[in-house]
Amino acid sequence: MPHLYLHVPFCVRRCSYCDFSIAVRKRVPAEEYVVLIQRELELVRAADPGPLLFEPRGTLKDSLSVAAPGSDDRGLDTLYLGGGTPSLLPADALATLLTILRDAFHGTPSLDAVEVTLEANPEDVTPDNAVAWRRAGVNRVSLGAQSFDDRVLRWMHRSHDAARIGDAVGMLRGAGIDNVSLDLIFALPVELGRDWARDLDHALALEPSHLSLYGLTVEQRTPLARWISRGAATAPDDERYAAEYLQAHHRLTACGYHFYEVSNAARNGWRSRHNAAYWSGRPYLGCGPAAHSFDGRVRRWNLAAWEAYRRAVAAGRSPVESEEALSDEQRELERVYLSLRTADGLHLTAPYRLLPSLPVWVDRGWVEVRGERLVCTPEGWLRLDALVGDLTGRQATA
Ligand code: SF4
Repeated sequence: MPHLYLHVPFCVRRCSYCDFSIAVRKRVPAEEYVVLIQRELELVRAADPGPLLFEPRGTLKDSLSVAAPGSDDRGLDTLYLGGGTPSLLPADALATLLTILRDAFHGTPSLDAVEVTLEANPEDVTPDNAVAWRRAGVNRVSLGAQSFDDRVLRWMHRSHDAARIGDAVGMLRGAGIDNVSLDLIFALPVELGRDWARDLDHALALEPSHLSLYGLTVEQRTPLARWISRGAATAPDDERYAAEYLQAHHRLTACGYHFYEVSNAARNGWRSRHNAAYWSGRPYLGCGPAAHSFDGRVRRWNLAAWEAYRRAVAAGRSPVESEEALSDEQRELERVYLSLRTADGLHLTAPYRLLPSLPVWVDRGWVEVRGERLVCTPEGWLRLDALVGDLTGRQATA
């Protein structure tokens, strides 16, 4: 069944660490965005989808149909609205968008069985919005909490304060959205004096179904990179990264969360089906500026800038900027890398089982061999790139 990602590029300002493809807008051109997404889906449907196979049984062309000619089992499985800040879309525009998407994929009679995730910033969650999102079909919200320290949130250029996070979770639950994930960033510069243990306590007190943890990275052309270059901030430090990652791992595990992937932990039954599809190498379609698609062999990506995307689709041209066909070797490297990111690990086929360094890794507690599978420990996840490089003789690029 298809997995669909929609990139909603609008943000009210740029966070200090962010280099995503965004369009900073006070007023979101929501109607135009919805029309463009509909046109992009029509362009995908009109084009020969070639190898865009979503299932062995059918092509994307089979799955996409505005006419919704009867139901079959090729409807959407997951729909993820990421960004940018999808929660900036007015509720009526979001409802229209979800109806268009439901109708575009025949075999999706309703969104009830679809995992529909909306990335939201806490300040956009209001009782009215939460109710409208739920009515429109949203059943999972990934909330950009990042920290529960107002000083740190200001440093990040976030537009919410810590109190707003708990309020947002309460409003979402009140509207019937129980599947709430919190994003947190760790390994912040030491001079901020961020208390990571306190932030974890605050997050756990809200009892989210899911947590995503991201170590701070310094991307070029961000405010953070400029602060570091002029000595106003220190670069993230590997030791701090490792210590805070392991601290979170132990704390969350003790509270009943299972790290089913290197950066993601969930309570029983609340794993993200959408993200799991990426990690298992399943095909997906991405729409919107900068969105990527993958058919199992070819990766395509859209024009990243909103204006360029807007002009192309409005003129009836495909917004795909480029594509790359993965060689067998690249696909294998990607399979190894993605498998080892997950708690299910890598199936230990002969070449990997015979690797001379494998016993050393086991001795050092970086990996465990569980039956036929090689699984990283938390310490191993900290060395993931090196382990994949050792296993495949190549640097992981996935
Ligand atoms: S809200 Fe998200 S996408 Fe927008 S600037 Fe901040 S981190 Fe980047």
